[in-house]
Amino acid sequence: MSENLFAIFRGRFPADLSKVFLERPNGSVVTYADLTALSGQLANALKRLGVKPGDRVAAQVEKSAEALLVYLAALRAGAVYLPLNSAYTAGEIRYFLGDAEPTVFVCRPEVEAEMKALATEVGVPRVETLGSNGDGSLMEAARAEAPEFEDVVRTGDDLAAILYTSGTTGRSKGAMLSHGNLASNAEVLRDTWRFTPEDRLLHALPIFHTHGLFVATNITLMTGSTLIFLPGFNANEIIRLLPQATVMMGVPTFYTRLLAREDFTRDLAARMRLFVSGSAPLSAETHKEFQERTGHAILERYGMTETNMNTSNPYGGERIPGSVGLPLPGVEIRIADLQTGRALPQGEVGVIEIRGPNVFKGYWQMPEKTKEEFREDGFFISGDLGRVDERGYIYIVGRAKDLIISGGFNVYPAEVEAVIEAIPGVAECAVVGAPHPDFGEGVVAVIAPKPGAHLDEKGVQTTLANELAKYKQPKRVFITNDLPRNAMGKVQKKDLRDQYAGVFTAGGAS
Ligand code: AMP
Repeated sequence: MSENLFAIFRGRFPADLSKVFLERPNGSVVTYADLTALSGQLANALKRLGVKPGDRVAAQVEKSAEALLVYLAALRAGAVYLPLNSAYTAGEIRYFLGDAEPTVFVCRPEVEAEMKALATEVGVPRVETLGSNGDGSLMEAARAEAPEFEDVVRTGDDLAAILYTSGTTGRSKGAMLSHGNLASNAEVLRDTWRFTPEDRLLHALPIFHTHGLFVATNITLMTGSTLIFLPGFNANEIIRLLPQATVMMGVPTFYTRLLAREDFTRDLAARMRLFVSGSAPLSAETHKEFQERTGHAILERYGMTETNMNTSNPYGGERIPGSVGLPLPGVEIRIADLQTGRALPQGEVGVIEIRGPNVFKGYWQMPEKTKEEFREDGFFISGDLGRVDERGYIYIVGRAKDLIISGGFNVYPAEVEAVIEAIPGVAECAVVGAPHPDFGEGVVAVIAPKPGAHLDEKGVQTTLANELAKYKQPKRVFITNDLPRNAMGKVQKKDLRDQYAGVFTAGGAS
């Protein structure tokens, strides 16, 4: 039997294909019948453009239902889908196209001329366009095609997608994900989070990233349920549509932005059964505030581009603020010494390592890099530091590269951030290390206060003096309006490190 992910989805589609797969904010819909016919037409169009099984189909487009259909068409054609962040510049796109060598690149109509020139430079044979309203040459080509398409037979190990990692250090790497990786994770999440065909998932995430593209979309297709599909996060729209939804998936900033609104009330969330958070740490404070406001405990989970989802707080059991929960069924997690790979006793902090059907097939055209990031027994070295409590719940304490070593002691930013975020008036904070002449590195805290709150360096330091061991206390505290974040709401610690690199050394300027 073919293990093509689309074929597996198709087996889960509702018997009545007139059921709605996707609803737009203006009320227009894509039914499961539309999805099947349109993705068939698009798959035929891709084939006519020269796409063969195993070829890459790259897309840098605005979020739209049609963009999702291109993903599904690529699966059906046996191609490898390569979504690109809509914020990438031409220079970045040149690198991705040159590296992945797609047969077809789909871009926004507005940049067609520029992208065509760039594609010619790097040898990409076809450039097509797709606009945010489903306009452009690709849909035009698809409309001329028949809706019937025989899905290309795939094994579970064949590639379904390449997603470039956010690449905060060095070159961005293409994580190769197979049909089997994606299918296994979608099935496990559907069951763990108890999805049913009646679910209506409010979708405001981007679809170039694993969270919006795979977690939210694949679960829906694996269940035969419905997406309420927003072009992006807009608090007014979320508040308007929440009463029509049963599930929402978001990054932590979605939840902090909702909490900042007085009209985000318990009543609005009354029909919801689940709020999921991931892609960046959800502070225990936000978790508690959300629960007080709505009565819902946000379910936090942990994943990454390379591995899909790894852990989740339980649906039925206790959801612990500040923890990313337990390993998902079928996923093995261990905490190991970063240098030696030796498994560490329960409770100790080490690197989180992951093995299971969810773990990717390696980095595209980087066999050496791939080898470096796997242990010999097949565990992937995530680069995240964490610990496990006596009940098996996992806590992330930060990326290994964000670890601060001050005076020879390890300082885990997440621990310091959690203490600072509990101070009244703190909206959010990030803790980084800056070179220090005596200590090697000194702890620096950058804090965004709540609207109207007044915080200052001395006051924060005095509060922390009783809360944290001396070596963990920030030697400098900076107050700012906003922390630098990427599209997934992740604080860009590298930017902060660069900005505050000089605070303890000569000149001392920030
Ligand atoms: P990405 O590959 O862009 O999805 O980034 C994956 C990284 O995001 C992980 O390696 C973690 O560092 C971080 N991450 C994802 N989910 C969480 C979470 N729930 N809590 C803390 N960090 C997270």
